[in-house]
Amino acid sequence: MTLKTARIAATACPYCGYKIDSASRPGRSQPIPGDVMMCLNCAKMSIMGDAGELRRPTREEVEEIKQDAELDLEIAAYRATLTAAATDYEKRTGKRWKR
Ligand SMILES: [Zn+2]
Repeated sequence: MTLKTARIAATACPYCGYKIDSASRPGRSQPIPGDVMMCLNCAKMSIMGDAGELRRPTREEVEEIKQDAELDLEIAAYRATLTAAATDYEKRTGKRWKR
């Protein structure tokens, strides 16, 4: 799977406040409203809103994501990669990964 990265208008993770100004995804690079996004800092999912802002998914959207087996697998893979990177960072630096 090849990821494409695009610059997006700066926004913040609705969970941890991490500044987000780029997005990577398979296929087209530019995210559109309604796309599921994952924060590279805390690995939580958010939804891109109509104005490009990130918001927490509704309960219904969380259920839809869980029922999409392919998307659910992608999210699990990203989350595992991020967890491994955070663990590696903490081992190498002795610092705590900010989540
Ligand atoms: Zn976050």
